[in-house]
Amino acid sequence: MERKTVVKFGGSNLQKPEDFQKLVKVVRNYNKPIVIVVSAFCGVTDKLTKTMTDDVNSTQNIKLICNDLANIHKQIIFHNISNSEASKNTFSEVDSLITELESILNIFCKYGRSNIELKDLILTFGERFTATILNAILINYKIDSELIFPENLGLITDGRFGNSRINFNLSDEKVTKKLSSEKTFVIPGFYGISEKNQVTTFGRGGSDYTAASIAKIINASSLDFWKDVDGLQSADPKIVTNPTQVTHLNYAEASELAYFGAKILHPLSIEPIAEKNIPVKIFNINKVQENNLPETIINKDNCLTKTIKSITYSNDFGIIKLEGSEIGYKAGILSLITSCLNIAEINIKSVITSQTTINLLLSKNDLKSAGLILQNNQIETVSSIKIIDDISTIAVIGNGIYENYENASRIFSAITKSKINIRLISFGATDSSAYFIINEQDKNLAVKAIHAEIFETKNAEFYNTNSL
Ligand code: ASP
Ligand code: MG
Repeated sequence: MERKTVVKFGGSNLQKPEDFQKLVKVVRNYNKPIVIVVSAFCGVTDKLTKTMTDDVNSTQNIKLICNDLANIHKQIIFHNISNSEASKNTFSEVDSLITELESILNIFCKYGRSNIELKDLILTFGERFTATILNAILINYKIDSELIFPENLGLITDGRFGNSRINFNLSDEKVTKKLSSEKTFVIPGFYGISEKNQVTTFGRGGSDYTAASIAKIINASSLDFWKDVDGLQSADPKIVTNPTQVTHLNYAEASELAYFGAKILHPLSIEPIAEKNIPVKIFNINKVQENNLPETIINKDNCLTKTIKSITYSNDFGIIKLEGSEIGYKAGILSLITSCLNIAEINIKSVITSQTTINLLLSKNDLKSAGLILQNNQIETVSSIKIIDDISTIAVIGNGIYENYENASRIFSAITKSKINIRLISFGATDSSAYFIINEQDKNLAVKAIHAEIFETKNAEFYNTNSL
């Protein structure tokens, strides 16, 4: 049997009811059964998140919010399903989901504000709506399609709320079997089900992870992400005026890009498929045609030119500086620190140390609680703990970045010429990226300066084709 393609449609494809027509066109052009993973309609997960805040707690408010959500989704049906019987049925499927959501929201607001299980369950409704509706639309267009929710698919997770991962050992067999028939499947992304039958989400943006995991499980022929832009760019087009399109990347480069903030790819979307060598293709939904060509391809290719591909940034890094005169000598300090944070489920993004200081790079959201935990644990030899949160991380991505001595000099001379102060540097940790930390206010200037030096100078072309 032909290997299936996993196709992911995200929030950027789902901004207006009419956008679903583009999805239909894409699905038709595949001209074969595919597995579709879909996100929530644009803004719906944010609305659901807001619903759970303290000020939206009356039954009446919940009713208003549910009416709003019903409205958004019914507009989609109205615009896309012409058959009156089919649209009536889909309206009533949406109504049942709304009724279910309303009653869960009421329970949550009355009794369960701290109930993380209910929070996760509520957040998944955006994906439940879009998958239900997309499936009905495809059937209306005579595409042989079936809707499967993760709980029926057997997509089993590790049970962690808000940030779970798939347990592949427990999921593989059932998921493979369920998706084996020769039809198109529509699956809501963003969540799975624990062994105890609880709904757990993969964290914001987690539908990409669903798609990548399913691609891994069924050994898909490719994992296709549909976006509303021309694939990956050499820098954020909101910052630089004429970025270059990045047509090829290898898995390591793509992971580094996603990790350091490129919004087009979720950091978890590469790891599952890299080990099976499944290519990732990024398409622009505004350029749908019969023989769709990807804007960017990510695969294992080791023979890619060793050039700088992209410059990215993230504002979601903060630093905890642990200082003490003997830190560099004392054995076991780092393990003490990491185990304290591990118990609190705080992820350390990176560590840069010197003899007197350990710098922990964490997500900005975790800085305060991590600081408190480390303070309370009174770690031997640590005399001061400082939190720095006004920083941005700039990362320069390219396979073999260190194999050309000019790279470092070009990157840093661009920064120096712009009079930007570097606060921390990590060079050489991987073959594919170099990153450094600057004041948040210098971020745009830094991206522009490095981009100009690498991609826009007269010798950029020479440099990029000759750098090893
Ligand atoms: N709807 C979820 C979110 O907005 C998951 C996703 O879009 O991937 O985070
Ligand atoms: Mg998304």
